[in-house]
This record gives sequence, structure tokens and C-alpha cells, in this order.
Amino acid sequence: MSNLNEERVLSVHHWTDRLFSFTTTRDTSLRFSNGHFTMIGLKVDGKPLLRAYSICSANYEDHLEFLSIKVPEGPLTSRLQHIKVGDTVIVGRKPTGTLVADYLLPGKRLYLLSTGTGLAPFMSIVRDPEIYDKFEQIILVHGVRQVDELAYHDLLVEHLPAHEFLGELVTSKLRYYPTVTRESYRNTGRVTDLISSGKLFEDLGVPPLNPEEDRMMICGSAEMLRDLKIMFEERGFKEGNTSIPGDFVIERAFAEK
Ligand SMILES: Cc1cc2nc3c(=O)[nH]c(=O)nc-3n(C[C@H](O)[C@H](O)[C@H](O)COP(=O)(O)OP(=O)(O)OC[C@H]3O[C@@H](n4cnc5c(N)ncnc54)[C@H](O)[C@@H]3O)c2cc1C
Repeated sequence: MSNLNEERVLSVHHWTDRLFSFTTTRDTSLRFSNGHFTMIGLKVDGKPLLRAYSICSANYEDHLEFLSIKVPEGPLTSRLQHIKVGDTVIVGRKPTGTLVADYLLPGKRLYLLSTGTGLAPFMSIVRDPEIYDKFEQIILVHGVRQVDELAYHDLLVEHLPAHEFLGELVTSKLRYYPTVTRESYRNTGRVTDLISSGKLFEDLGVPPLNPEEDRMMICGSAEMLRDLKIMFEERGFKEGNTSIPGDFVIERAFAEK
């Protein structure tokens, strides 16, 4: 268990029958960059059952927070969805990942493009005061099927803008664009379609994407990542990674089987 900490569940919130989030204690030795993921899980038959999870909380907070899918037959989440305050969750001590501001070249606007639980790493990033020094505008796009899957909507719309320390930065620099595909809502349609049609930029009142000014982080399904990567490369954007910074970086929100 040397690479794993045992943490205590502090709170659990069920957003829908497919989605929940929870907070845990945080070992003081755990270090991570905002946007990182780590392995988390439960002990099953005495052995750790682990999966990759993005950390939703910011790296200066004294607790950890995760946003999780509930896969009915999923080895981990069929169990994890039943956790209660006081239960133990295992958390890997080696967070990693590419959705880190240092892997992007300087720019004017930062787009955080997510679907489903792909929102998770961006919840950490929008709570990072440093990101607001690096970019003039942060645009958080979250695509889901149903309105009630817009996790953290109220935090983004009400609580963060009123936050004691972040409120002013968030109010002046963060734009939040939730979009829904299977119900009527104020914004509808897939994130990829909203970008290829230009509707996203019209709605936000910002110029069309250009490699001089815009930077993107993307977290979603393999299909979304593939489509957006092609679209951005056609427009002259270069992908960055942990060794060479670029105009955009990507991470899968989950692995398909
Ligand atoms: C880099 C990375 C970061 C991740 N971060 C998160 C996170 O923050 N929150 C989270 O819930 N999951 C995240 N995942 C997925 C996570 O690792 C597990 O797959 C998920 O918790 C389900 O575990 P399981 O054992 O129940 O089912 P698995 O056997 O792991 O998955 C079964 C199937 O469920 C589907 N599935 C799995 N995860 C998701 C998901 N998040 N959204 C939609 N469909 C899914 C896939 O089709 C998968 O094949 C991440 C995966 C990767 C690779």
C-alpha cells in the first residue's frame, strides 16, 4: 500500500441516479497540480480495486473532491456509489495528467471543453487563482444529456462568483456555457457541433477560434477528443503534452472497453 493513502469520506452528494460526488480527507503529503487525475478506489476482498479519477478540488484545499459516474455493472462504481460519510476510500499518491496550464503556450482565452464527468478536472482549474493571471478569459463549456446532469451548475453560477477570495476574478473572467443534448435548455447541442457551426462563439460574443489568442483543454469521450483534435489541427492549433507545451491539451474522461 506504499503508493496509496487511506482517506475518510467527509460528504457524499448524489446529483442523479448516474452521477455523484464526494469529498474525503487529504493526506498532507499529497501534492498535485490543478487538472491532475489519480487512482482511487476501494478495498475489495482485501485488495485495492482502483480506477483513474480527476481531482475536482483545488490543490490548496485541505480535502479532496471527486465527481463520479455510476456504472451499474462497473467493478468499482457499482460499489463506490454506496459509500457513506466515515467510509474509507483509497487514494493514489502519484497524481498525473496533461490538463495542466503549464503544458499550454501563453494565450488570451482558455477554453475548458468537457462532457459528462470530463467537467471534473476543470472544477479544480476554475478554483485556481493562478489561471486567472495567465488568461484574460476562461470559458468553461460542459455538455450533458439532461439538465440534471449539469453538476456544479449552482456552484459555478452562484457560489463561486460570491466566493470570498475568488469571487472578483470569477465574476470578471470566467464564462460558463452549459449545454444539453436531450432536453430543451437555454443552450442545446453537442460541444463539437457548437464549435464547428460557430454558434458557441456567437452566443459568447467572442471571435472565432484563432491560434494566436486561444488555448484549449479538452476532457470527454474518445470520440469527442478525436473530433475536436482533428478540428483544431485543421485550424492550425498544435497539441501540447507534458514535455512540449502547445495550443491545446487533451485527456480522456474515461476509457472505453
Ligand atoms: C484519465 C482518466 C480520468 C478519469 N476520471 C474520471 C472521473 O473524474 N470521474 C469518473 O466517474 N470517471 C473517471 N474516469 C473513468 C474511471 O476510471 C472508471 O472507468 C469509472 O469510475 C467506472 O469504473 P468501473 O470499475 O465501475 O467501470 P469500468 O469497467 O471502469 O467502466 C465500464 C464502462 O463504463 C463506461 N464509463 C466508465 N467511466 C465513465 C464515465 N466517467 N463516464 C461515462 N461512461 C463511463 C465506459 O464505457 C466503460 O467501458 C477516468 C478515466 C481516465 C482514463
